[in-house]
Amino acid sequence: MDKGKLIIVSAPSGAGKTTLVRYLLESIDELEFSVSCATRKPRPNEKNGVDYYFITADEFRKKIENSEFAEWEEVYTDSYYGTLKSEIERITSKGNSVIFDIDVIGGINLKKLYPNNSLSIFIMPPSIEELENRLRDRKTESEEKLKQRVEKAAGELRMSSEFDCIILNDRLKESKIDIMKTVRNFLEADDQESNA
Ligand code: 5GP
Repeated sequence: MDKGKLIIVSAPSGAGKTTLVRYLLESIDELEFSVSCATRKPRPNEKNGVDYYFITADEFRKKIENSEFAEWEEVYTDSYYGTLKSEIERITSKGNSVIFDIDVIGGINLKKLYPNNSLSIFIMPPSIEELENRLRDRKTESEEKLKQRVEKAAGELRMSSEFDCIILNDRLKESKIDIMKTVRNFLEADDQESNA
């Protein structure tokens, strides 16, 4: 890949990464969102092709067979998510940079695939208890699914050290300032290098 930079944003579910990713997208013109494939059902306000490409498990399997994914994961039992190589190509070929909202293992895998032109960011929730409260307030998951997400989060927090940087998401206003500074520095530093 010769153009574009990759911003990988990962966190346990409920840590607030989607809010921070949206904020970056609204503020930085050259960033474009990598729309992943997912096999779960869309939530009421989600749109196909905008939030995800919602596909069936069979369609997902075909894409694995055809090596269409840069990475993919069974993030939750029977829920598959994957980053399409064509999505990265679509964005970087325009000279834009890509931002990913992706689970923790997916984030580590993408960083390994693109070590030089990527920045991996881990969004740290203040605590597991706070994470559970936020998920409960969101009211998007059944109790069983919510428990799955909280259990998974404990393991994910231990992987935070594998990321380039960690942003604590305690107070949203401060986290927005932190992440904006981090991402802008990365994009600007890279510009200088490529102009050198
Ligand atoms: P949700 O179902 O809440 O939209 O997403 C569940 C988790 O899957 C989130 O942590 C989200 O970031 C992650 N995710 C979304 N797209 C991808 C992807 O393409 N690959 C991986 N590995 N995880 C993804």
